[in-house]
Amino acid sequence: MWQTTGVKTTWTPRALVVGSGLAGLECALGLGTRGWQVDVLSPGRVGRDGATHRLHALAPWVLLTAPWVRGDSPERFLADLKRRGQGDERDGLAEVLAAEAHPAARHLIETLDLVPVEPEPAILPGDEVPRGMRCLPRNRHVLLAPLLKRCEAAGVRLRGRTLAVGLLAQAGRVTGLLIIDRGRGTPERLYADAVVLACGGVGAVFPVTTAPRWTRGSGLALASAGGALLHRPELTQALPVTATPPMFFPTSAALLSSGIQVNGHAMAPGRDLEAVTWEIAEALRRGAPVSLDASSEGAAMLPPRAREAAAFRGEGRVALTLAMHHAIGGVATDAWGRTSLPGLYACGEAAGGVQGRRRTMGTGLLEATIFGKRAARAASGDIVRTGPGAAAGEVLAPPVPLDPAVLEERLDALMGPLVAVRPAEAVASALREIGGWPVKEGEGVDEKGALAGIRRQAAIALLSGENARSRVSGMVVGLRAGAQDP
Ligand SMILES: Cc1cc2nc3c(=O)[nH]c(=O)nc-3n(C[C@H](O)[C@H](O)[C@H](O)COP(=O)(O)OP(=O)(O)OC[C@H]3O[C@@H](n4cnc5c(N)ncnc54)[C@H](O)[C@@H]3O)c2cc1C
Repeated sequence: MWQTTGVKTTWTPRALVVGSGLAGLECALGLGTRGWQVDVLSPGRVGRDGATHRLHALAPWVLLTAPWVRGDSPERFLADLKRRGQGDERDGLAEVLAAEAHPAARHLIETLDLVPVEPEPAILPGDEVPRGMRCLPRNRHVLLAPLLKRCEAAGVRLRGRTLAVGLLAQAGRVTGLLIIDRGRGTPERLYADAVVLACGGVGAVFPVTTAPRWTRGSGLALASAGGALLHRPELTQALPVTATPPMFFPTSAALLSSGIQVNGHAMAPGRDLEAVTWEIAEALRRGAPVSLDASSEGAAMLPPRAREAAAFRGEGRVALTLAMHHAIGGVATDAWGRTSLPGLYACGEAAGGVQGRRRTMGTGLLEATIFGKRAARAASGDIVRTGPGAAAGEVLAPPVPLDPAVLEERLDALMGPLVAVRPAEAVASALREIGGWPVKEGEGVDEKGALAGIRRQAAIALLSGENARSRVSGMVVGLRAGAQDP
């Protein structure tokens, strides 16, 4: 029989956390230290297969943007977040980020053993006060290594090579996950009292991305297959990166201060990163070459591998392209990571609405740590009221497409040109083809089919949001952000 004593349960609640990036590990640690039995599921090597791990391999430093200096404040930071958000953020979420950014940044420096590159924060493009603290992991260790250790010490079970491919639900409550153990290759049901989507952004829905291939919109796909509300899935951020490997992001400051050439002509200076990205997108759609001038400050920041490229040394420039970088929209949550489905939580890049139309750089890690911890707190409070979930449920999963390899190729061709600029006709036509792709009936699913199904479902959510903005905004009304503090 389930009982509560005060706020403690007399049984051990069980959580499944999808994803081992910063959000997933923070949430798992929060649940583990509150007495939950926690399994973190991750398709590759735990702690090394998400954007969090990729971060310091593709960017020159880890940027933590927060109020750091005298004269700055959470209120001032919030005003800037709102100005950039242009009303496309969800009520109450930017407030949490602004209020907790500074302590969260300090927490990350300590927990991940980071060392600031310079003693003071830098002024970032578009800001009037210095907010960008640039850091590196001491000894260049694996970024999440210290957190993985803490999770293990708290009894969290870290399960690599495991892909979540669908939700299980009974009577409107999420009761677990359909997973594929990539070693065995067969689908399996896992039941839990709470499921947390910490599965990152939509990078790999697009063929060129700064994020790893596993971050292919699983949050959008699993949540929408389960009937959970989404918040503005079409809001994404693309960035200019070097076109040849290692696909390096030279930083916003460097891009804005450097000579970008479009079709051999220097781009007019003095614009913000979004305007530059837009202009590059338009040029690439016209087939015009875009490059970074090797004599510029931006080029000096490129890693040796890029600078050793033949074009860089011979012609004094390096070709640029655009990569999908960050999901700004995502699964709709309240300020505690609760989704519209009981038993289902979302945090980090999988969740949407902390920021609106334009996001502030250097806040991805802060969102992951702040909302990962809050989701753990919310689940621990909610479980006292709801009691255990059933060890039963129907499968709610993205449909499995026929010919997954062919679909993946079509998705590359259709989504690639829509990385930043999305003309209505191209969106509608891509949506028709992707939405109309034939799918299999029944539960039988293998890894390739499940991965293509997740990407297809995420692409449909994103393009539908683009296609019918007002309908999608209307869908999220009714989930009150900030409701019911745990
Ligand atoms: C190149 C680059 C540079 C960046 N620089 C900065 C910076 O300087 N400062 C900053 O604050 N932010 C930066 N960001 C953004 C930041 O890294 C991310 O916002 C943040 O790491 C997201 O954390 P997360 O835990 O939500 O997602 P992730 O770290 O992406 O983790 C997602 C996890 O979910 C797993 N997963 C996905 N699908 C499934 C599934 N179906 N089943 C099981 N597991 C699944 C993934 O494998 C992964 O383990 C950068 C990002 C990139 C790519």
